[in-house]
Amino acid sequence: MSLATSGRKPHITFGIVADVQYADCEDGTDFSKARIRYYRNSLNLLKNAINDWKRPTDPVAFVLQLGDLIDGKNNKGGEVTSHRALSTALHPFQSLKPTPTYHTIGNHDLYNLPRSFYMTSPVMNPSLSLSIETSPSSQHLYYTFLPHPKLRIVNLDTYEVSVLGYKDQPDDPNFHLAQSWIQEHNGKENVNDVDHLEGLDRRWAAYNGGVSQAQLAWLSQVLHKATAREENVIITTHIAIQAVYRDYAVCLVWNSEEILALLADYPCVIAVLAGHEHAGWDYLDPDTGVQHITVPAIIETKPDSNAYATAHLWDNTLTITGFGRVPSYSIKLRYPVSQT
Ligand SMILES: [Zn+2]
Repeated sequence: MSLATSGRKPHITFGIVADVQYADCEDGTDFSKARIRYYRNSLNLLKNAINDWKRPTDPVAFVLQLGDLIDGKNNKGGEVTSHRALSTALHPFQSLKPTPTYHTIGNHDLYNLPRSFYMTSPVMNPSLSLSIETSPSSQHLYYTFLPHPKLRIVNLDTYEVSVLGYKDQPDDPNFHLAQSWIQEHNGKENVNDVDHLEGLDRRWAAYNGGVSQAQLAWLSQVLHKATAREENVIITTHIAIQAVYRDYAVCLVWNSEEILALLADYPCVIAVLAGHEHAGWDYLDPDTGVQHITVPAIIETKPDSNAYATAHLWDNTLTITGFGRVPSYSIKLRYPVSQT
């Protein structure tokens, strides 16, 4: 259903983008050397997406940025270069103001700056600057908000248990937990080397991370209330939590099974939107009906294409219209929007 043909107005419209990975440097490749990374041009593609979202006929109410806004290459120039790259990459989002952008934390963001910076940045941590009603608010990089009475967004911090971003907080228990997990499951000195691992064990790399028990308890509480209030929930996360269709799992959250089991308890969840795995993929879980989507990365998108999506909430469906490399989806709502 398109706006042009439907003649109807959606209840709400929002934008989705993943893995901009901006850096002011020449094009390069991914670690396998098979795919080109367009470090400077990613900014142009982001600007094109944002110009589309500014269209007066169908402006977005908010944007979901799924993580890795700046590339790890920036840190070669130190924190000054990282901050400069971040402010350049944030500029297009700021041009949407007062329309807010909700950011997700990614590994490349943490290669540049510590999580304490993101936590205390009113731009990067939406709970500091936007009206997000759920505790525990600013103490964390996970959050939830309700942009429409029938639509809730729940953002996960999949690097809360991580070996990244804790340089200035070496005593943090989540950093210690990550170190012991990665030691136990990977064991190599180079903790991004997974060549010796097989199947789903290939998730045990430092560029992935996990969700703490405290975050899981919070998630359970949020989903419990959302189910009682009949709100449709979209989970946003940098790392995918479902890798069942893959024969490897290099981009999978460490405690994926725990999170999936929790989601399965609550019928309110309709979709999971992730970034991180740049090619993009999707999987409709036949047991829960949850649509998992990994959004293709802008950084590996050719300059004459793009990779973003515009979502619309209708009476009975959430449609995600993909542009460039992103496919389109129609997701049935668990709780229809009542027509009053
Ligand atoms: Zn990533």
